[in-house]
Amino acid sequence: MSASDCIFCAIVAGLAPAARVFDDDDCLAFMDIQPLARGHVLVIPKRHAENLFDLEADEAAAVARTAKQLAHALRTVLEPEGLRLFQLNGAAAGQTVFHYHMHLLPRNADEPDVNPAALHGRKPADRAELEELAGRIRTALDSHLVS
Ligand code: AMP
Ligand code: ZN
Repeated sequence: MSASDCIFCAIVAGLAPAARVFDDDDCLAFMDIQPLARGHVLVIPKRHAENLFDLEADEAAAVARTAKQLAHALRTVLEPEGLRLFQLNGAAAGQTVFHYHMHLLPRNADEPDVNPAALHGRKPADRAELEELAGRIRTALDSHLVS
């Protein structure tokens, strides 16, 4: 997959919709459209890089910094008992979108466990609900609650 037919590059360019939660020179973060749980967020580098092996070290650092900020915002908004960060490299690892992305997945102990690499059975989320949640996450990011 090249940048020209990449859905995440289309989101970066504003050509495809997304419920955005964070945007700076290096990274973009938005709600996963088929969430594994409420508050499932993806962080991507703006430059098209297929996977971890293609990522520059400073891009990896920028994604990690953004994930750290978002972790605090998700905790403020959803108060989950736990938070999973994961990312998949290559189809054999379960990667389906070949533009590097970090998943942030809020978790509660009483919820059924999920296989991050299994896509079947996942339903697209209601877009209005994603936008509402994205707004609350943006507010938490902007507020002094996030350090
Ligand atoms: P992975 O299996 O790690 O490649 O995960 C790709 C993720 O991207 C999945 O969780 C999808 O639900 C998500 N995804 C695919 N297309 C979109 C999109 N247009 N907007 C938001 N999330 C998407
Ligand atoms: Zn891309």
